[in-house]
Amino acid sequence: MDKKFILDLDLPAWEAYIKEKGQPKFRAVQIYSWLSKGVIDPEKMTNLSKEIKAGLKEDFIFESMSIEKHLVSKLDGTQKFVFRLYDGHCIETVLMRYKTGLSICISSQAGCKMGCRFCASAHAGFGRSLTRGEMLGQVLLAGSYAGERIHSVVVMGIGEPFDNYEELLGFLNLANDEKGLNLGARHITVSTCGLVPQMLQFSEIDMQVNLSVSLHAPNDTLRKSIMPIANRYSMQELLDACRTYEQKTNRRITFEYSLFDGVNDTPECARELCRVLKGIHCHINLIAANEFDGSDFRRSKPQSVKAFQDLLTKNGMTVTLRREMGSDIMAACGQLRRGLQEKKET
Ligand code: SF4
Repeated sequence: MDKKFILDLDLPAWEAYIKEKGQPKFRAVQIYSWLSKGVIDPEKMTNLSKEIKAGLKEDFIFESMSIEKHLVSKLDGTQKFVFRLYDGHCIETVLMRYKTGLSICISSQAGCKMGCRFCASAHAGFGRSLTRGEMLGQVLLAGSYAGERIHSVVVMGIGEPFDNYEELLGFLNLANDEKGLNLGARHITVSTCGLVPQMLQFSEIDMQVNLSVSLHAPNDTLRKSIMPIANRYSMQELLDACRTYEQKTNRRITFEYSLFDGVNDTPECARELCRVLKGIHCHINLIAANEFDGSDFRRSKPQSVKAFQDLLTKNGMTVTLRREMGSDIMAACGQLRRGLQEKKET
């Protein structure tokens, strides 16, 4: 069989593996339980026999993720990890502390194909999609590094999760499994730039995971100038998919809206946004966008952000201004990976 990363298997898959090895079923639970605690090295699974440990080492990749870089913000304690995967690709993971506990932002791909013009990940190109185990590994390894249980997960780092749909679902099942990581579905958020077919599929899954949509513009023309995905799916199609999601799941959608100076932060944009979102049960997350070298966009001025937020609130929208975290350690998506990649290329 092709070697898999040891975290890629769920409990039924471990049971099948153990059966194939002619071992008793409880061994599968033992292995799964170690892995769910972040113990990946078979040698450290103290209740396993020598024979099983040797088999695991033979059959699986377990040294798949090493910490290439770890930065801690002096401003707010936000931690950023760059993990190097077994085949050399780098991904980023960010750990942030909120009043409710530790929240982790994980990557779903090494790089991204979506090409959003404001995003450092898009500028750094696409490597490959991550496996479910590599997504889980970020939660486990960053969590054990912090020495604390992770309270919530957002799949909002490098990559478009719905462009890696099957592995994403596999990860959600592993994370939510009460015999595994046992993270409540309501504590997990998946963020998409708007892949409509997958959004519709997602509205059918039997899990109370939150959905967040990167909107960043109130109309097609502006959205197309910022996000190439808008050429594939119109605002109408995107918002119809959001309505379907809301009807089927009875859950509120979050719209992410990054503010770029003079581009999408005008009062006209705010009014238009209120008009197009009218009737959708939603929450709007405003973000004063991060800047990086080579970006065409500048962050909105504080007075424009305030005016935008006020206009939305006045029109009855529920709005939060997302606090910038870890700005001194380049915590925005893809900036550190891009830096490392450029250094490697030179
Ligand atoms: S913002 Fe998200 S979807 Fe867009 S290019 Fe960056 S990682 Fe990809």
